Amino acid sequence: MAVKKEDPKRSQARLIGNVLLLIGAGLLAINIFLPNLFAPPMARVPYSLFVHEIEEGHVARVYIGQDQITYQLRGVSPEIPGDVISTTPIFDLNLPERLEKSGVEFAAAPVQKTGWFGTLLSWVIPPLIFVGIFQLFSRNGGGAPGGLQIGKSKAKVYVEGEATKTLFGDVAGVDEAKQELQEIVQFLKTPEKYTKIGAKIPKGVLLVGPPGTGKTLLAKAVAGEAGVPFFSISGSEFVELFVGVGSSRVRDLFEQAKKQSPCIIFIDELDAIGKARSSGGMYGGNDEREQTLNQLLTEMDGFGVDGTTVIVLAATNRPETLDQALLRPGRFDRQVLVDRPDKSGRLEILKIHAAKVTLDKSVDLETIATRTSGFAGADLANLVNEAALLAARAGRETVLLEDFAEAVERVVAGLEKKSRVLNENEKRIVAYHEVGHALVGALNSSSGKVEKISIVPRGMAALGYTLQLPTEDRFLLSKEEIEAQIATLLGGRSAEEIIFGSITTGASNDLQRATELADKMVTSYGMSAVLGPLAYQKQQNQFLGGMEMARNVSPATSEAIDKEIKSIVENAHTKALAILNNNRELLESISEKLLETEVIEGDYLTGLLAQVKPVEVNA
Ligand code: ADP
Ligand code: ZN
Repeated sequence: MAVKKEDPKRSQARLIGNVLLLIGAGLLAINIFLPNLFAPPMARVPYSLFVHEIEEGHVARVYIGQDQITYQLRGVSPEIPGDVISTTPIFDLNLPERLEKSGVEFAAAPVQKTGWFGTLLSWVIPPLIFVGIFQLFSRNGGGAPGGLQIGKSKAKVYVEGEATKTLFGDVAGVDEAKQELQEIVQFLKTPEKYTKIGAKIPKGVLLVGPPGTGKTLLAKAVAGEAGVPFFSISGSEFVELFVGVGSSRVRDLFEQAKKQSPCIIFIDELDAIGKARSSGGMYGGNDEREQTLNQLLTEMDGFGVDGTTVIVLAATNRPETLDQALLRPGRFDRQVLVDRPDKSGRLEILKIHAAKVTLDKSVDLETIATRTSGFAGADLANLVNEAALLAARAGRETVLLEDFAEAVERVVAGLEKKSRVLNENEKRIVAYHEVGHALVGALNSSSGKVEKISIVPRGMAALGYTLQLPTEDRFLLSKEEIEAQIATLLGGRSAEEIIFGSITTGASNDLQRATELADKMVTSYGMSAVLGPLAYQKQQNQFLGGMEMARNVSPATSEAIDKEIKSIVENAHTKALAILNNNRELLESISEKLLETEVIEGDYLTGLLAQVKPVEVNA
């Protein structure tokens, strides 16, 4: 998240605001009448739109003046009040009735006083009161800017040389991402080098990864390394209730940025604007988001031709929800994965953050790295801070290992609610499960070479994973090869059975995929001797969104199909169990190693898996 630096003017304003609050709620009630006396750039909309907003129930309150109607939209929450907008009144006798019907608060705007005193008051008091409102609005919201500024981009600019100068050295555990972004730094530093020979500089890079893994930090570091200004804005800030505001903000942001070329624009939570457009179709879509998205696309297509170098970095943890138009060449056509760190990555991150606190000699960061599997960078930063707080609370000068132990528990308790962090026992199970896949997979070369085993939780779905990459493109698979794939899928569960004697819920996805493959063998590929070379696919119902319906076969055939599928899966299960029993020592030694390092890959893994002994199964 972007660090919001409070400028001195604003904190001064806060002080005055506080005083004002003391003056009382009465004054605040009047405040709301006054924005129209001084608010500088208030959006002005046609009267018809105003009426539309009322009918849609978007309007919270209305002040009707002689030559101006000012109204405030309903806020998203008490912390984020709605925008204040004005319109020019027309002769509309139905207005009060309309307002009443929609339950909108309304009042007449105050009459402007004249005379020197009144003039003075209208110059001095309103700004003060404005601050008061602002203060009131942002009191619980941690400084969420009030909705009173419309159209102007809220992007914060970090110019090189400011205190917040971030470099690649401040980011750890994401070496691949750093390497890929190194090139972007070069583009920003010496754009001429590339444009001179006619190369096009990429415009958009998408940073994909779970929250807190350092995407914002990386974007800042790119700016810091290249020594260019950094504009940052969050996708959710773009999306306002009021149509047209988001797109004008995008336009404004790019205008500001182009003036400072070369520079970086960072858009956090891109999915908030970039969601696929069809997704809201049934409910009439979201005009505002669509307009904002279109504006973003237009801006990205537009720049670069005029010799400016603006690179847009955007972060998301849900790339699959993004509109395809965003991912086309010339837009966000590069993706950089920023994943949770493995153990050595966590150690590096801990080193960075621990350098800011005074550690006791007894503290071994490696031990802490081992115990924080599944933590993202932000969790580790939080952990170090928690530990330091605990030490300070106990009146100690240095942070002890036990502070970290307690802090880990606190952070884990917080995380368990949000995402998955495995306890020791679960980690063991996942390790054996994954090694089970790998050992069975090692004997099944048709589906590829096992490249990597990991028990670092990835994304939201998998607790661990075994990566098997095809060594060549395959279009045809034999019956034996599919059977071997099913056995590999069952390898995880089989290992759990052998080692722990019990099974967990972790294998459900494996079982589903295994069953689907077996189903295809029987009903689509004609690979079952019992049912013969016939196709028995399920019917798709085009009205229920392609939902699968029952097969169009007799009950007896249906039963036979189920029996065949079951027998294929069971045979594969027996085979997987046999392989693992035959290689039990290897299963244990690799699993223990995996628990230690969390990731095993490359030649080392190949060497280990070469030791797997095949079994002759005559099932
Ligand atoms: P994201 O944008 O991916 O949600 P942030 O960049 O906002 O994550 O991370 C929040 C904070 O967590 C950072 O300011 C930094 O202190 C810490 N942090 C996160 N990832 C890393 C990392 N890879 N290396 C060092 N610190 C990190
Ligand atoms: Zn599995």
